[in-house]
Amino acid sequence: MGTTSRFTGVDFYHFDRNFSDEERSVRETVRRFVDDRFLPDIKQHFREGTFPLELAAEMGQLGLLGPAVKGPGCPGLSYTLYGLMCQELERGDSGLRSFASVQGSLVMWPIATYGSQEQQERWLPELAAGTKIGCFGLTEPDHGSDPGGMKTFARRDGDDWILNGTKLWITNANTADVAVVWARCDEGVIGFLVERGMEGFSTNPVHGKFSLRASDTGELVFDDVRLPESSRLPRAKGLKAPLSCLNEARYGIAWGVVGAAMDCYDTALRYAREREQFGKPIASFQLVQQKLVTMLTEITKAQGLVLQLGRLKDDGINEVPLLRARGPGYPGRGRGDGRVQPRAAHGQPGIGDHL
Ligand SMILES: Cc1cc2nc3c(=O)[nH]c(=O)nc-3n(C[C@H](O)[C@H](O)[C@H](O)COP(=O)(O)OP(=O)(O)OC[C@H]3O[C@@H](n4cnc5c(N)ncnc54)[C@H](O)[C@@H]3O)c2cc1C
Repeated sequence: MGTTSRFTGVDFYHFDRNFSDEERSVRETVRRFVDDRFLPDIKQHFREGTFPLELAAEMGQLGLLGPAVKGPGCPGLSYTLYGLMCQELERGDSGLRSFASVQGSLVMWPIATYGSQEQQERWLPELAAGTKIGCFGLTEPDHGSDPGGMKTFARRDGDDWILNGTKLWITNANTADVAVVWARCDEGVIGFLVERGMEGFSTNPVHGKFSLRASDTGELVFDDVRLPESSRLPRAKGLKAPLSCLNEARYGIAWGVVGAAMDCYDTALRYAREREQFGKPIASFQLVQQKLVTMLTEITKAQGLVLQLGRLKDDGINEVPLLRARGPGYPGRGRGDGRVQPRAAHGQPGIGDHL
């Protein structure tokens, strides 16, 4: 596009004034990590449908994996910092933020919240360091929005459990060392830590994605996998346990979408200023300006929303729902067109060539 100047943020309402020096500094560090270490290769990864796993340990060193999780070896930072990190990661690519969200909110957080001391000490330090990778298996081929209908079943066999079932559309499936897996048993929904290499446990990639291409997505298959009782997350009881993990992840996703929208706006603005038609930059035409103003308005509203959510969570106020984060006011609002709505109605198959 010709413009090579670095991204300096989008901040029409001066939200920067509300951040501490530490928050601004961490945001800058992550922004430069994305610029220097991730963006140079993202086009190739997107085209090839791969994730740059070699960055995992570097992300761990920067405290990007489970930043707000409290446990052995975890960064133990604030939720606002976690949000800012997700914003910057998703400015690079949704696949990068997804990787961090799954590792932190969907693997480390449930281990810290529902796991035994032994599970926490065994897994959290290496997951935080990015030297071990995790995934979260809830969705099944026939049960996405309604995980309560899951068919994956764990039956007792002496002191062990025997796990059977299939999870589909699982981020990090093919690279994970450990999978947090949710299953039904006679007493309700329970969770397990299933390790790669266990007999009967296999993974397969999902091909043909049109979106989230720079992300490892796959299937988890459990065929009579024998699990000791020590693999079960002892404090996870019922469907509310996996749903609480999703809530934790949604917080980071809300910030991430703001980062993606900031990048879209910045890219569109740069292009509109440089691209000339009828002898002047297209940014000088009011119809183009209207598009940019609408984007900036939605971004500004969303920035206020996620910042307040972060501050509330840092004050221990968790019961505020992620208020209509997918509804009016969300930066994706402008996507409600005839092309995107039918795609969304398909859920996961809507992002691939599977139908
Ligand atoms: C790239 C990618 C990565 C993913 N990673 C993971 C992962 O790591 N772990 C994991 O467990 N899952 C993962 N998922 C699965 C994801 O969580 C599901 O796609 C999601 O739960 C929705 O399920 P579904 O796609 O089967 O859609 P469906 O449940 O079939 O829904 C189809 C449509 O109907 C709408 N709908 C459904 N029920 C209602 C209702 N009651 N009211 C109004 N609308 C409704 C939905 O919003 C959607 O638009 C991933 C999906 C993708 C695409």
